[in-house]
Amino acid sequence: MLTTKSIGNAYDVALENFDTAADAMELDKDTREMIKYPERVLTVSIPVKMDDGRIHRFEGFRVQHSTARGPAKGGIRFHPQVTLDEVKALATWMTWKCAVVNIPFGGGKGGVTCDPKNMSRNELERMTRRYTSAILPLIGPEQDIPAPDVYTNPQTMAWIMDTFSMIKGYSIPGVVTGKPISLGGSLGRNEATGRGVFYTVESACEHLKIPLKGARVVVQGFGNAGSVTAQLLHEAGAKVIAVSDSNGCIHNKKGLNIPELIHMKTLTGRVEGFPESETIRPEELLALECEILVPAALENMIHADNAGAVKARLVAEAANGPVTPAGDRILEKNGIFLIPDILCNAGGVTVSYFEWVQDEQHLFWEAQDIYKRLERVMKTSFRDVLKIHLERKVPMRIAANILGIGRVAEAVQIRGIYP
Ligand code: NAD
Repeated sequence: MLTTKSIGNAYDVALENFDTAADAMELDKDTREMIKYPERVLTVSIPVKMDDGRIHRFEGFRVQHSTARGPAKGGIRFHPQVTLDEVKALATWMTWKCAVVNIPFGGGKGGVTCDPKNMSRNELERMTRRYTSAILPLIGPEQDIPAPDVYTNPQTMAWIMDTFSMIKGYSIPGVVTGKPISLGGSLGRNEATGRGVFYTVESACEHLKIPLKGARVVVQGFGNAGSVTAQLLHEAGAKVIAVSDSNGCIHNKKGLNIPELIHMKTLTGRVEGFPESETIRPEELLALECEILVPAALENMIHADNAGAVKARLVAEAANGPVTPAGDRILEKNGIFLIPDILCNAGGVTVSYFEWVQDEQHLFWEAQDIYKRLERVMKTSFRDVLKIHLERKVPMRIAANILGIGRVAEAVQIRGIYP
């Protein structure tokens, strides 16, 4: 597998980002103690009968970082590098993210350490169902609502919903979001993260006076979030000049034909070999001259050793935690504007919230309603964060954390401690 040297522990990054924002907002020590750490952490052992008849034991996790503002909310990741610390970090970011866009959810996350690319569909189904039964005491529409993340998809959500419903004895679509439409999924959920990234990039370009038409864009990670962002930027007249996935990176300085690239990626599972493109190395991709860089793969991709090479004017974090604190400081010093992950990629959880509301009401909305509501949430949240950035003269990441952490702190302070 291709790796852009990724360094550091994501949970250390999450804690460091919390402390930086808590210091900047002068949050008192008692409230910090109450909101910094996960409320619940569950590790599960998942025995699965593989296609060759042997049993393989996988390890899985579900972390609820906060339920102060509502049920825990967060995706489930299937990846060989999933660790408990990574899941804790992702759950922590979900808490601040839901608060930044002001939806009534807390933060959670789940994961299974596995290599889904080398598992059959039947093996994945058995693993997903057994994992669901193992985390069953924690999840539910009023408690904790999983969604897709890296290498999980609407089919995975359908298996979770079915297993949960069979055990409870009746259908409960609201237990997961990101479901297929036929099971109570929402229109627009599949492309929600990329669409949300697009709306925040539009707002940032307006603020920075970068015309979107003709702007050069580089996208690292061409999965759900990355490919939809690329598609919408392409449709808006921007020029996507380079993209990468876990197998390779491609470049064409005149711009790639994104709809055709998406078609090829769907058919072959890779971007390398796309007509009229040259293959480049991952470190070259990050160093390309461009206006907009969209890291949309995994955590810790931009760090102390490579951040100095970034030449973009704007970095839009479609992925969770793609820039380390040391990377942040370098981008900041070089005057690069950052749309932080907990704002930039919050479109996914926002439409998940719309899906949950529709499931609970048994009443479904038109796609245009979803897009309009999503645009309003993303652009309002961008303005709220930008205001803190400008008024307090703090970096955009700290500004977003101040907004999110502040809302969670307020909820915890008003609720008090029981028992
Ligand atoms: P995905 O599995 O659809 O796509 C991930 C992509 O990253 C794949 O194309 C993969 O090949 C690529 N990749 C993996 N390692 C890479 C590497 N070293 N270099 C370049 N590319 C690499 O996953 P996704 O849902 O698009 O998630 C991507 C990121 O966005 C994750 O950080 C995820 O947490 C975040 N995110 C996703 C959503 C969502 O709704 N899908 C919501 C919020 C945040």
